[in-house]
Order: sequence, then C-alpha cells, then structure tokens
Amino acid sequence: MNQKCAFCGNLFKKRNGTSRYCPGNSCYKEAKKQRQKVVDDLLKSFRKGIYQNLKLFVSLLPKPGSVSRPLSEMLIKGFDENAFYGVVIDKQKRTWQYVGNYLFNISIENNLKQVNIYKQ
Ligand SMILES: [Zn+2]
Repeated sequence: MNQKCAFCGNLFKKRNGTSRYCPGNSCYKEAKKQRQKVVDDLLKSFRKGIYQNLKLFVSLLPKPGSVSRPLSEMLIKGFDENAFYGVVIDKQKRTWQYVGNYLFNISIENNLKQVNIYKQ
C-alpha cells in the first residue's frame, strides 16, 4: 500500500508503524521545523501586540483612572484587541482583558466602538 507524505505529498510504500512522512528523516524534520515556525511567529506577533498595547495605554493613561477612545483611532495607533494576558469579570459582570496593570474592553456607544481603558 502506498501512502502520501504529509509534508511533500510524494507517495511512498507504507511500512510498519504509522509514519506520515517519507522514509528518512528530512520530511519529518522539515514539517516539524515549519510547525515550530508557526508557533514562533504567533508568539512574536503576540509579544509585539502586548508591547504596542502597553505603550499605547501608558501614553493615554499614565496614572490610575480610566479613559475611552474610539476603536478606529486606537487601531491607527497600533492597538491590538487580541493581545492580552487574561480576562477578568467585575462586579457589574463586565468583562475586561488585562495587560500589565491595565484593563481594557470594547463597548459600543452611538454605533461607535469604544476602547475603555482602566488603570488600578
Ligand atoms: Zn516527503
């Protein structure tokens, strides 16, 4: 029985075991390298997003308090709504994402998306 390599697509003779790649190690190694690169790139863009958000939040709200800005304006300044460490829910059942000691969420006011930033 022939099997198609999961990496290069070449057909190879199926041996015992459940290898998804051509005989030899190169396709297996290459596939692994590519998977790692996807993870590395994701981490890199995540870190970049976190850094951009923190930098932006510090410039908008250097001291404890809160501030709201239109999402469109925030996006131009490099805001990344997917870059946060975790989520908290406050007493009013509102969800906040946190980055460092900043919390943010997005609300809709007068059909406009607003980014609300809060610093403890
Ligand atoms: Zn292959």
